[in-house]
Amino acid sequence: MKCISCGKNLSSTDDYSIFSCPECGKIEIVRCGQCKKNAVQYKCNECGFIGP
Ligand SMILES: [Zn+2]
Ligand SMILES: [Zn+2]
Repeated sequence: MKCISCGKNLSSTDDYSIFSCPECGKIEIVRCGQCKKNAVQYKCNECGFIGP
């Protein structure tokens, strides 16, 4: 599992959040705590949605 924003490898002990793409719902977006905190943008590979 990797952070979609920074590409950092995440393990279950790391702080991260996982949710479905708000636009298409097909992709699971994984973001590390750091990117969430810094509000780093992510892009859905399926529909191209870019979100904070
Ligand atoms: Zn990250
Ligand atoms: Zn999407």
